[in-house]
Amino acid sequence: MNGSREGLHEAVRHLLMREGNVYTANLKTMVDVLAGDGPLTLPELLDRTEELAQSSAYRGLGVLIEAGAVRRIVHDSDHARYELDEQLTGHHHHHLVCAGCGVVIDVELPTEIEHLLDRSLDAVAQSHGFVLDGHDLDIRGRCCNCA
Ligand SMILES: [Zn+2]
Ligand SMILES: [Zn+2]
Repeated sequence: MNGSREGLHEAVRHLLMREGNVYTANLKTMVDVLAGDGPLTLPELLDRTEELAQSSAYRGLGVLIEAGAVRRIVHDSDHARYELDEQLTGHHHHHLVCAGCGVVIDVELPTEIEHLLDRSLDAVAQSHGFVLDGHDLDIRGRCCNCA
């Protein structure tokens, strides 16, 4: 676990270097928090990092997004949420999104569904002259508190 966390930091450092950015202690803290949790809002991220000022966190997220290390997940009117990019985690997943409170939960689809999706989406992409890179799919509903 420690080994893979070090590998993660190394990969983020690389992405930042390409943009001419330094992997500061603040950024490293933010990556640690995002690596240990599901998609977080900025306030949730701040709750989990003691010494980080909101302005530094916001700036830091911008830097990490620009470098391709973090993705911003946006849906409707709720707060934006942030998570590590799949290229870093290697964890392909989807999001279960509550229309009531906006909570987002990471979920995995059965392998055969993923294969079926990729086959169908590849055909759709190809029919428009696209090469398929991947897909995003949000599952919408209401959580047990909002149902
Ligand atoms: Zn809810
Ligand atoms: Zn998928």
